[in-house]
Amino acid sequence: MITDKDTLRVGTHVSIAGSIDKAVDRAVSIGCNTFQIFSRNPRSWRMKELNMDEVRKFKEKMIAHEIYPSVVHMPYLPNLASPKKDLYTRSIESLKIELARCNVLNVPYLVTHLGSHLGSGERSGIERVIDAINESLTEVDNEVVLLLENTSGYKNDVGGRFDEIGYVIDRVSDEKRIGFCLDTCHAFTAGYDIRTDQNVSNILEEIENTIGLDKLKIIHLNDSKEEFNSKKDIHEHIGLGMIGLNGFKAILKDNRLSKVPFILETPIDERRDDLGNIRLVRLL
Ligand code: ZN
Ligand code: MN
Ligand code: MN
Repeated sequence: MITDKDTLRVGTHVSIAGSIDKAVDRAVSIGCNTFQIFSRNPRSWRMKELNMDEVRKFKEKMIAHEIYPSVVHMPYLPNLASPKKDLYTRSIESLKIELARCNVLNVPYLVTHLGSHLGSGERSGIERVIDAINESLTEVDNEVVLLLENTSGYKNDVGGRFDEIGYVIDRVSDEKRIGFCLDTCHAFTAGYDIRTDQNVSNILEEIENTIGLDKLKIIHLNDSKEEFNSKKDIHEHIGLGMIGLNGFKAILKDNRLSKVPFILETPIDERRDDLGNIRLVRLL
């Protein structure tokens, strides 16, 4: 494990196409010293077993290039807040599998959304999320830390507000294995204005009071195509969206975040690629 905590850690979400170790090559080629992957196809319930030869190469490359931390994002289909018994059970199964895969890959963090209560009510949705997490962490006993990501708060989504996430985290029995991933695009469209220094400062204060800044392990650094408080989730290049450069400058210069790794989930198009966004973040 790399302990040079003074280095700015910036990376992007990278593809595992071909073989999982190629994700590290891709990250290195665009100057990442941290990155995020899906451990499998995120749009399917089916998955291939991890190939142990690829796993070995993945771990070797991570060490060789001093990349830390690596992050796995949960696939899209699981819904830990679902009132539908089948989907709920399957989602818990999926969470357990991803926790185990992270451990095999030596990945310290697994990011998940809290899910949608599908109209069954926020309270019961949140209780199901808590039960799902406690069951999974108990059954898959390793050191992988599960990070709850805030959402845009669209319709029946759980986890758009920091106090909801704080409530869940407080009720997870294994407190060392639960944390928070802040997505700047989701926060902004959920109603947290991060366009100025003062607002960023206030919002960090609110995170400290509801979740605890010590729980903030990763920031998904994304600008937003959609307006403030729109509850919509469309990412944009850093500085080119509705948050704008000032907001990102404020985030990147706040001392309270100086040790938190930043991972971009920004688009790739004719205006800019991942390398362009990483360069900009380092500049800021
Ligand atoms: Zn996410
Ligand atoms: Mn995100
Ligand atoms: Mn998003």
